[in-house]
Amino acid sequence: MSPKPTVAFFEFTSCEGCQLTVVDSLQDHPELLDAIDIVQFREAMSEKSDSYQIAFIEGSCTRPSDEAKIRAIREKAAIVVALGACAHLGGINAIRNRSDMQEVREYVYGDKANWFPTYEPRPISAIIKVDAVLPGCPIDRNELVKAVTHLLQGRMPQIPDQPMCIECKLKENVCVYTQGKVCLGPITLAGCDAICPTYGDGCEGCRGTISNPNFQSLREVMLEHGVSEEEIESRLTMFMTNQILAMAKAQ
Ligand code: SF4
Ligand code: SF4
Ligand code: SF4
Repeated sequence: MSPKPTVAFFEFTSCEGCQLTVVDSLQDHPELLDAIDIVQFREAMSEKSDSYQIAFIEGSCTRPSDEAKIRAIREKAAIVVALGACAHLGGINAIRNRSDMQEVREYVYGDKANWFPTYEPRPISAIIKVDAVLPGCPIDRNELVKAVTHLLQGRMPQIPDQPMCIECKLKENVCVYTQGKVCLGPITLAGCDAICPTYGDGCEGCRGTISNPNFQSLREVMLEHGVSEEEIESRLTMFMTNQILAMAKAQ
């Protein structure tokens, strides 16, 4: 058994951009690479061991057959971290949850639709208990480094539950609504240093919502700024489809 914490990376339905961010970030932090023993990481190495303490899972669960694999990872790992919006929220893959699944399958696979038993994309937490989340599409490099440092110190990574607008205001950004743009900052979980508004774009909500998002109030703000109902729906469901569907179901 390695004297260092053993770490494995896994991917389900995703673009693997979050794992790429991990590779990129760890190259700048050799001290972290020295402190852990990565035993499985298909995107970065060929060696593979099934004995690990910390599992990072990227990607959403999109097939019934994914579930057993995700459960097997949970059984082996002491700590499971959801890596990125796909694993955290179902991600951009969940846009299709607003449509009929058979129609979506036929649109993508044509007359081979029944060969692919996909179902509604869901976050990893819909299948297993997740100990921590690194949100974002892709994940934030600094947050990853902080999370690995915390794990090495025996602490669980924590994401402050506050909206993007706070982070954005602390950066003294001019609100993009005053420039005729749309932003989901009032309901989105901060932590990415408000990177999109800082560069003049509205936040698209890739980090998911804070714990008590006021969708109604944000809708009113958007309507006041001349955003159409259709565009509001499209913005709110880019990353938050599952959260919105869950809220509608609960009402
Ligand atoms: S969260 Fe975004 S960057 Fe990460 S795997 Fe999913 S689509 Fe790719
Ligand atoms: S740009 Fe977005 S995040 Fe920044 S203050 Fe305006 S609404 Fe909030
Ligand atoms: S500002 Fe919004 S869309 Fe941009 S990275 Fe942060 S959470 Fe994602």
